[in-house]
Amino acid sequence: MKNYEKLIVGALICLLFFLWPAAAEEASGNSPASVADSYRDAANRIIEAAMMDRGAWEKLEYLCDRIGHRLSGSPQLERAIEWAASEMRKDGLQNVKTPPVQVERWVRGDESAEILSPIRKKLHMLGLGRSVGTPAEGIRGEVVVVRNFDELAGLGRDGVAGKIVVYNVVYEGYGKTVKYRSSGASKAAKLGASAALLRSVTPVSLQTPHTGATRYSEGVERIPFAAISIEDAKLLQRLTHAGKRVEIQLNMDAHTFPPTTSANVIGEVVGWEKPDEVVVIGGHIDSWDVGQGAHDDGGGVVVAMQAAKLLLDLGLKPRRTVRVVLWTNEENGLAGGRAYREWIGDEIVRHKAAIEMDSGAEKPVGFGLGIRRDDLTQHDADQAFALVSAIGDLLSPVEAAEVVKGGGGADISPLMREGVPGLGLRTVGKHYFDWHHTEADTIDKVNPEDLRTALAAMTVMAYVLADMPGDLLPPATLP
Ligand SMILES: [Zn+2]
Repeated sequence: MKNYEKLIVGALICLLFFLWPAAAEEASGNSPASVADSYRDAANRIIEAAMMDRGAWEKLEYLCDRIGHRLSGSPQLERAIEWAASEMRKDGLQNVKTPPVQVERWVRGDESAEILSPIRKKLHMLGLGRSVGTPAEGIRGEVVVVRNFDELAGLGRDGVAGKIVVYNVVYEGYGKTVKYRSSGASKAAKLGASAALLRSVTPVSLQTPHTGATRYSEGVERIPFAAISIEDAKLLQRLTHAGKRVEIQLNMDAHTFPPTTSANVIGEVVGWEKPDEVVVIGGHIDSWDVGQGAHDDGGGVVVAMQAAKLLLDLGLKPRRTVRVVLWTNEENGLAGGRAYREWIGDEIVRHKAAIEMDSGAEKPVGFGLGIRRDDLTQHDADQAFALVSAIGDLLSPVEAAEVVKGGGGADISPLMREGVPGLGLRTVGKHYFDWHHTEADTIDKVNPEDLRTALAAMTVMAYVLADMPGDLLPPATLP
């Protein structure tokens, strides 16, 4: 070879090495840049349609105002399930199904709490889900107020036995403070308490008690456990601090009945090329037995339903199947999420992603991406994050472009544990926990514009993940 020929061959080799990694990503069709480019037009069409959509709001209005709250085991939940399936059929979704799920059945019954001395005053209270009731005559007892588990332990059995423990715990974020709701009853019962009351797990209160599920430890006496408002918890703290003997009367007619049959609701936009590959999108159709379950999780339910309708209306049939799943019994059992995992069996390996909206329907800011796969290389994980970030960028017109690491949802956690990448819609989260699990979680707290933005975000993310040529992650290598 002559010198100039060597130069040309050398240059060609250099060029090949320079282009090869990009070419490999191009071959899978999934370079973040190419995904962003090739889906910008479709994303803009979805956003335009979503921001004019009325259907999601109409569905939310029906669910909230005409059906109402829907706790597991209630007739309203079963009505909501029937209604959602029939709406899906009307909207043209395919393979609409309601596979049965056995769920817990807890019924609150009549309940009240009252200070008897040194003043007489009714407390703003809500029994906690799964709590046992009191005897028919109620429980009357002296109050002992603690600000955390350490203070409780410090009192010991002598300070607690036979008394009603009040946890006046300052809110430090839901994830951190909710442990008092989960395990407060059993911790107090171990020291001989007759009942327990919990300052509601919330940053803000207008005398609003917040319910939610509690858990009893095995082998520990089950004592009644109820939430009270922040104001009432602080009042009890002040009265006892002033050295007063504070006495309370607690009556709860709560009962746990044998499990009953509910159902998940499933409907599909079937993929044109790989119909057996699935991107799941959804929220939970059950709620607590107060308010309307508008933010938790009516918004997630109607947005997932309407996202499928939007794709059908726009003629955007994706390569893979977009499957809407409305899980039952998220609030007190998570049976719907577990049943869905069982229901799909081996199909889980063809689940390419699962997206849940269950952080309320406030103004969306983007998504969190959670990946739990030990076999992934850092490069694969980084590539997946870059891809989802590129899809997120398509949501810049509605200011919902931010993608962060870590996310998912309770109902998709059984899928994520087995390696399915999970995404959760993230919002500004300004007021969600002010309303969460209260009488105040009603549709008037939902801004229609925010709901439309959530619809845009969920539809774009679901569509691109289901339609892009390559997979978000390489297939799992089985151990
Ligand atoms: Zn929820």
